[in-house]
Amino acid sequence: MSDLIRPRLPRIISVANQKGGVGKTTTAINLGAALAEGGYNVLLVDLDPQGNASTGLGVEPEDRKYTTYDLLLEGAELGDVLKTTAVEGLLLAPATTDLSSADIEMMATEKRSFLLHDALRQPAIDNYDLDFILIDCPPSLSLLTVNAMVASDSVLIPLQSEFFALEGLSQLMLTVREVRQTANPELRIEGVVLTMYDVRNNLSQQVEMDARGTLGDLVFRTIVPRNVRVSEAPSYSMPVISYDPMSKGSIAYRALAQEMVDRLKETAS
Ligand code: ADP
Ligand code: MG
Repeated sequence: MSDLIRPRLPRIISVANQKGGVGKTTTAINLGAALAEGGYNVLLVDLDPQGNASTGLGVEPEDRKYTTYDLLLEGAELGDVLKTTAVEGLLLAPATTDLSSADIEMMATEKRSFLLHDALRQPAIDNYDLDFILIDCPPSLSLLTVNAMVASDSVLIPLQSEFFALEGLSQLMLTVREVRQTANPELRIEGVVLTMYDVRNNLSQQVEMDARGTLGDLVFRTIVPRNVRVSEAPSYSMPVISYDPMSKGSIAYRALAQEMVDRLKETAS
């Protein structure tokens, strides 16, 4: 299934938005799980000191001996950091609160913006035969997020279907442009995905119209609805895809994965 992408390096995608609570972690986990379900090999890099992606995938703090902090700042080997998860085909580079001091420590290094870029290009990365690497970014435009963008082929932006959703997007786009101009000219926008969409709420529809009007085809056709099963799943340490495979949230994340892969195949051909 993945033959169109496999011969290349894994596609590295930052899931970013400096606002908290917009669905970054939920999207990283469930897009990752949906891609894995589709037969792709996926690595999720938890780059948020809160470690929500790690917890949501059932990797407990005591099992996070080596983390993304070690990958960035201690020269740790991928083999020591990457953990398997309950989802076949989905690996995790876990995070702990250690990562909260990373920004300051990275600042003191010469390759400050390239630490994740270099870590993900260790020759050992080939051992995993990865198709996708998803990076779950913290809710800021800090050096951690810049590291993610420098390391990435593209940025996927979850947009909460709520008032003010589009505010702050210009700031995010500005950061993308800066990274393009300095460290990573090839950085693309993978797309914008509307999350927590409520069909009964006029506001959701208004945000969708605004987003499509402003951003056009950058906005994925697939919309992730607000769905209680999605918010329950992390407390069972599972993606919603595993927790309730036929829930509206699961169906949406599978459709998002398919839409993204289709788009990538289109641009590759
Ligand atoms: P972020 O990583 O951007 O801070 P999260 O993915 O952690 O955002 O989502 C914030 C909260 O919203 C979490 O409690 C999450 O479970 C919930 N949530 C995310 N997406 C949905 C959805 N589609 N339906 C219902 N709840 C959601
Ligand atoms: Mg998060």
